[in-house]
Amino acid sequence: MNRRRFLAGAAAVSVLPLAWRSLIAGGQKPSNVVDSKSSSAVGKIHRSEEEWRKLLTKEEFYVLRQEGTERPGSSPLNEEKRPGTYVCAGCALPLFKSEWKYESGTGWPSFYTAIKEHVETKQDYLLFIPRTEYHCARCGGHQGHVFDDGPQPTGQRWCNNGVALDFVPAENA
Ligand SMILES: [Zn+2]
Repeated sequence: MNRRRFLAGAAAVSVLPLAWRSLIAGGQKPSNVVDSKSSSAVGKIHRSEEEWRKLLTKEEFYVLRQEGTERPGSSPLNEEKRPGTYVCAGCALPLFKSEWKYESGTGWPSFYTAIKEHVETKQDYLLFIPRTEYHCARCGGHQGHVFDDGPQPTGQRWCNNGVALDFVPAENA
């Protein structure tokens, strides 16, 4: 590599978003913030796989930590209609408000928007087509995928695994 190209590379590094640079400086690989749409100020939770296995049920671990997908229609949250807040099952960070929930007919709890500072997105190719995966900004737990076939006012469908969420009724908040 000649000196000119080396300098061009160094300049590119220096324009990385601040959050990425601090992650890199901290020695943590920003593996799950690829294409992140959020530069949230939410403090991160890091746990080992072993710790998560102890804290989560088998199903929660499969979805949250291994990007699994629950069987459609299997979550009791499909029927949940009370006012309240949907929080991450891994760390209790609020992700959705009940008024954003709608019946998508897919068999998964669906919302037309999310608490944007509390979610991060990335592209995944698990089905060989690009999809936008989203996960909890605090613990990195996989929640679901967001599609652009939802209702107004956003036109988005945040298709969430019910097992990745806990519901907190408004009267308990
Ligand atoms: Zn979380």
